[in-house]
Amino acid sequence: MLLRHSLDTIADMIIWLDRDARYVYVNRAATVLLGYSADEFLRMRVWDVDPLFDEAQWREHWHELERTGAVKLETVNTSRLGEPISVEVTASLVAFKGKAYNCSVVRDITAQKQAEADLRALNDRIHVLSITDALTGLANRRHLDTVLATTIRHHARTGEPFSLILLDIDAFKAFNDRYGHIEGDACLARVAAALTGAMRRSDHLVARYGGEEFACVLPNTTEAQARALAEGLRAAVAALAIPHAASPVAGVVTASFGVLTAACTEASTPLDLIRRADHLLYRAKREGRDRVVGAGC
Ligand code: GH3
Ligand code: MG
Ligand code: MG
Repeated sequence: MLLRHSLDTIADMIIWLDRDARYVYVNRAATVLLGYSADEFLRMRVWDVDPLFDEAQWREHWHELERTGAVKLETVNTSRLGEPISVEVTASLVAFKGKAYNCSVVRDITAQKQAEADLRALNDRIHVLSITDALTGLANRRHLDTVLATTIRHHARTGEPFSLILLDIDAFKAFNDRYGHIEGDACLARVAAALTGAMRRSDHLVARYGGEEFACVLPNTTEAQARALAEGLRAAVAALAIPHAASPVAGVVTASFGVLTAACTEASTPLDLIRRADHLLYRAKREGRDRVVGAGC
């Protein structure tokens, strides 16, 4: 009595399948969750409900059951209405009146799967936020450091040259003083977009290094290529033609560039390379701004 009542009221599906994958018993939960009547089930085989199973897979599953006695798996059942239901199946091989059956407890884990997917999506989002600069949408300093360290390691192994560009907007304090901080922010976002737009290679990273300073990590890039690229970036910033009446350099927003090309040795650290690129950048500042100064090391 209690046993029968349990089978009828339990939330999990309990199903018996024979060696040919035919349903020979289903409890009430199976009819409720999947929408077929018990009689309909008895005319069906497992792949009518589980499209991920075909005859060959079923045979393999059966053999595994014979080997191990019990198998746990996750799959997807399709309800009568065509709705996919993620399920966790705990199958056991049981003997009854001289015949072997697959007796499975099948649990609807749709909600759990959805929660897992939501959590994964949230984690991905948090990860993206943690490496992105909010104002410009560029990679932030944290990501720059990671990529730079990886690039240094890679180039130390291969000995190929790679380059680092550091750039700084000219007279940006004067820009803020003249046009206000909000306009300053908008200017940073536009400069960032121009830098990204001028980058052609997907392995080239543009990052916001600090306030009005940006950095580009250029793997497998020679000194000549990096200088040419920096010239292109310099022209792209000037071509934005953002008015800067307080600039001692030009009537528009400009930037200065330090370009370091490194034939890497293990001794280089991200900080070391940034320091050297910074030195070149400040030479560009001293020499009049709105220009590119490069060197190998
Ligand atoms: P230089 O040509 O030598 O680079 O001069 P500069 O005025 O650009 O350099 P300085 O370092 O004196 O000033 C940088 C300014 O950038 C000061 C700071 O207020 C501004 N700044 C830094 N971060 C932001 C930001 O997120 N938004 C805005 N609007 N301004 C910023
Ligand atoms: Mg600066
Ligand atoms: Mg500046």
